[in-house]
Amino acid sequence: MSVRVAINGYGTIGKRVADAVAAQPDMTLVGVAKTRPNFEAERAVAKGYKLYAAGSGTVDSFAQVGLPVAGRIEDLLKEVDLVVDAAPEKVGRENARLYQAAGIRSIFQGGEKPDVAEVSFNALANYAAAKGKHRVRVVSCNTTGLSRAISVVSSRWPVEHWEATIVRRAADPAETNRGPINGIMPTFQLPSHHGPDVNTIFPQLSIATTAVVVPTTLMHVHVNHVRFTAPPPNSAALLEAFRSTPRFHVFPAWAGVDGTPQVMEYARDRGRGREDMMENVLWENGLRVEGKDAYFFQAIHQESIVVPESIDAIRAMFDLAPDAAHSIAITDRTLGIPPP
Ligand code: NAD
Repeated sequence: MSVRVAINGYGTIGKRVADAVAAQPDMTLVGVAKTRPNFEAERAVAKGYKLYAAGSGTVDSFAQVGLPVAGRIEDLLKEVDLVVDAAPEKVGRENARLYQAAGIRSIFQGGEKPDVAEVSFNALANYAAAKGKHRVRVVSCNTTGLSRAISVVSSRWPVEHWEATIVRRAADPAETNRGPINGIMPTFQLPSHHGPDVNTIFPQLSIATTAVVVPTTLMHVHVNHVRFTAPPPNSAALLEAFRSTPRFHVFPAWAGVDGTPQVMEYARDRGRGREDMMENVLWENGLRVEGKDAYFFQAIHQESIVVPESIDAIRAMFDLAPDAAHSIAITDRTLGIPPP
């Protein structure tokens, strides 16, 4: 079976998920929908993707600049089994009516509230929960990063409490309307919304999160503090658990990766599409266990980390793979994410 997929919202996340869908052996990218013509629409056409007008956009506005459009989003939805909504925050919920009217399955992004879907999803943590579902929400970049790490740790050692401070990038690199800022902006929601969002995936976990926004566009960094119930792991065992799990990249101390600039430089040197870093990035010398407490940093490439999860969500919803490990292996091979 090849699942026929539409992408509605062709920005930072949508264009990446479109390329990822097009690379899957068991999925077909039927078309992408955009509100207005711009360089991204031109690139979609250049790649051979069928383009549709979405939201308040009109077919005419694309035609006027010479970009061929196959119709409106409603036309695209008639041709597919599933739509991945990648419209801006809160717009996905409005779009949900279109998907319901078309009688097709849908995936939403982390900018939507959890109740937009039947289940919140992370491939490592709760793949099976999305099996057969019609509406699935792939959690945000930060919640995805936290959920992956929690999945690795809590499946091996009992966790008493997890605390994370999320050092957030101010904007994505192309979002000149949101930045740059010159300052460190506390998020005056204490604790931050990320903890409750993690609880949509790990309902039993005791977790508290806080967040600050800093003037960078490259990546987020999480400062994690995990308290274990006895017996805790040692540092080597904890590092090995991350190293041996798909979608984690642990830089050794000798690599000279001092922070997110070198992580992104590494991604550029690796030369994968868009120079994305879809793995959770950890540092060997940025992890320490002391008594019952573990401390570790992880960096999260906000623009790309949810892309493989969106692919696995599709595979789970249509039962295209026996389990998470099989789906993750196909996704990672096709997207060029190295196995552990
Ligand atoms: P974006 O602004 O880069 O792209 C959104 C696209 O949707 C734009 O092209 C916009 O023109 C289009 N659009 C606007 N209204 C629309 C409508 N009614 N129908 C269809 N398309 C419409 O946004 P993004 O960063 O890709 O975010 C999309 C979603 O992914 C949000 O829920 C966001 O919270 C989530 N997310 C973003 C990031 C990130 O760091 N960028 C990471 C993880 C999750």
